[in-house]
Amino acid sequence: MTELSQRQKYDLKRQLEELKACKGKHTELISLYVPPTKQISDVTAYLRNEISESQNIKSKTTKKNVLSAIESILSRLKMFRQAPENGVVFFVGHKSIGSDQTSMVAFVVVPPLPIQTFLYRCDSLFYTEPIEAMLTEKEIYGLLLIDRRECTIGLLRGSRVELLKYMTSQVPGKHGRGGQSQRRFERLTEIAAHEWFQKCGEKASEIFLAEPDIKGILIGGPGPTKRYFHDENYLHYEVQNKVIDLFDTGYTDEFGLREIVSVASDTMQDLKVGQEKKVMKRFLREVTKGDNSLAIYGEDHVRRALEMGAIDTLLLSEDLRKYRITLACPTCSYEEKRTVKEDDLEDFEPPMCPKCETPTQMEITEKIDIIDELSELVESTSGKVFLISQSSEEGDSLKAAFNGIAAISRYPLDIA
Ligand code: ZN
Repeated sequence: MTELSQRQKYDLKRQLEELKACKGKHTELISLYVPPTKQISDVTAYLRNEISESQNIKSKTTKKNVLSAIESILSRLKMFRQAPENGVVFFVGHKSIGSDQTSMVAFVVVPPLPIQTFLYRCDSLFYTEPIEAMLTEKEIYGLLLIDRRECTIGLLRGSRVELLKYMTSQVPGKHGRGGQSQRRFERLTEIAAHEWFQKCGEKASEIFLAEPDIKGILIGGPGPTKRYFHDENYLHYEVQNKVIDLFDTGYTDEFGLREIVSVASDTMQDLKVGQEKKVMKRFLREVTKGDNSLAIYGEDHVRRALEMGAIDTLLLSEDLRKYRITLACPTCSYEEKRTVKEDDLEDFEPPMCPKCETPTQMEITEKIDIIDELSELVESTSGKVFLISQSSEEGDSLKAAFNGIAAISRYPLDIA
């Protein structure tokens, strides 16, 4: 299984929140999971059968609601010639909206990871567990053990350690062979060592670059060699940038892989958010810089920097819960955008059009989660986006001190 991006996880989380908030008065919410291998015609046949089964439902309203939900799924299924690459999930039914009222909801979710099994369920809640399972963390770390004799490259996937490559060197030991001067011997040894480190660096870079979702890289080994290898930049710069820390281990072979994981596991909880910590530290350092600061914060400033294409790294707290809405006048062509809190959206009263002479109320024509909106803008100018988890120390300070939106610019900007 591949790892989801931060954004995919975020979007999925939000969708789950919405789905889980739906409650049926009775067992009338339908969840239908269609795996990629399932024929649409089989699904249709299955639902037709459910329609006849539903005739046995005693309550008249429940029966009516279940039937209309199935009909709604059937009509949506017509839009599919075959199931999408990862399958598709339908959540349809009448949710309770207070007093005795219900309202029909229909969600079609194309999951970021493949649906494994076909499933039909009619309950008073939507069945979301298979989608929630896609959100479980699949932490991947690169492991590299090195000294002058051996090099072992592996991965830590969740709690599983994988050995990917083991190499041994031809670098001579400390004692010279007969017939060579000590200096000449040392020189040859250094050349051999350099070539060995190059070979290890190239192999490790090749392996780690092929795993774009690696969260960080741990380097281990006995003595100072690993430090030398790291500091002399034998790794590809993209891989080098992912190095989290160096650890002392006794072994540089397969045993060493387990050893480094165990040594690092003391700080493993930190590793999980290691990248977040790092980028927040970088931002806070910029904040305190003064004149040539690259720190930008506050939504307006960030938007201005974005327009200039000047943002290198955008930091967003995961629990912003805001929307960017587009307001348009139905009479003239006037349009404007605003940011509104999720909680305020329901009672949001669009303002009057400032251009029309006769009072005309504007309408919300578009609504997008601000995290999606800003992320797309930054990515379109080749910047990076970090979603900072809400339960972390970093997340708290980003939210409290900077309203959850901050950035590091590519060069100092004067937009105060
Ligand atoms: Zn107008």
